[in-house]
Amino acid sequence: MAVERTLSILKPDATRRNLTGAINQRFEDAGLRIVAQRRLRLTREQAQQFYAVHAERAFYDDLCDYMTSGPIVAQVLEGENAVVRNREIMGATNPANADKGTIRKDFGESVEANSAHGSDSPENAAIEVAFFFAQTDIAD
Ligand code: UDP
Ligand code: MG
Repeated sequence: MAVERTLSILKPDATRRNLTGAINQRFEDAGLRIVAQRRLRLTREQAQQFYAVHAERAFYDDLCDYMTSGPIVAQVLEGENAVVRNREIMGATNPANADKGTIRKDFGESVEANSAHGSDSPENAAIEVAFFFAQTDIAD
């Protein structure tokens, strides 16, 4: 299995509750390396663009409101099978359905405020990493 990179976001519910370190510990304990990290506040336009794939979904406007409601931490995680591995560590989209010991089960507040984002494929990971980071921002 090749070393991959994936885009992770610690969402506004996580930064609001000061969970950045606790969540990062989960990634590092699982062998994923944080090779780039930046705290920022998304503009409405950026949130809409990032989640454009969901533009037709009923939850899209609320999701864009939520993602701009506070700072986020965007990060690049690197490791073996990082895309799938990160999604395992995060757990199911809805914290109510997530396995014990996952980030979303342990920290998520709701299906919307579920603490973390992770890319869903290597192809999307490349697009999402480039959304936030230049190659020169990433140091492995
Ligand atoms: N979301 C929501 N309501 C839903 C489904 C998703 O508010 O019914 C939000 C949630 O924050 C989720 C994001 O939209 O993380 C993107 O949805 P997706 O289906 O891509 O889930 P993910 O890939 O984040 O698990
Ligand atoms: Mg998704």
